[in-house]
Amino acid sequence: MSAETSVDHGALLRGHGMHVTAQRLAVLRAVSGGPHGTADDICALARAEIGAISRQAVYDALTTFTDKGLLRRIEPAGSPARYETRVGDNHHHLVCRTCSRMVDVDCAVGETPCLTPADGSGYEVDEAEVVYWGRCPECVAATTNDEQSNQREEHDRRE
Ligand SMILES: [Zn+2]
Ligand SMILES: [Zn+2]
Repeated sequence: MSAETSVDHGALLRGHGMHVTAQRLAVLRAVSGGPHGTADDICALARAEIGAISRQAVYDALTTFTDKGLLRRIEPAGSPARYETRVGDNHHHLVCRTCSRMVDVDCAVGETPCLTPADGSGYEVDEAEVVYWGRCPECVAATTNDEQSNQREEHDRRE
C-alpha cells in the first residue's frame, strides 16, 4: 500500500488515545484500502504489507478500533462481519445476494434514525439499520444470460 494516503493513521490512533504500532497501522491501512473487508481479507492485506501478524492481533485491533469509533462494523445476515473506515455518517449498504459484494449508499435523510416506526411501542428509537438486498449489476447480467440459456434448454427439452 502506498505511503501517500491522505489520512494520517498515526495521528488518528493517537487522537483516540492509542499507541501507534506497526500492526495497528497495517490493520487500519488494510481497512481503508479495502472497505467492507472481512477480518480474513484484512488479515491477508496486513500480512502482505508487514509480513507476520497473527489472526488474533488482527481481530483484537479490529475490535478495539470498532469500540473506539475508528471503524464501523457491518454485519449483514449470513455474512461474516465487515469493516470500514467511513464512520459517523449513517450511510447504508447495498448487498448482492449472489456474490456478497457490498457498496456504500448515502443515507437519504443523513441522520439517525432515518426511518421512524409506524408504531414505536414507546421505544426511544435512535437508529434504523437499513440494508438493501438485491443483485449487483454483474450478477444481474450473468443471471440474465443464464436464464436465457435455461429457457433455451427447457424449450429444447419440451420438443
Ligand atoms: Zn453480485
Ligand atoms: Zn460502507
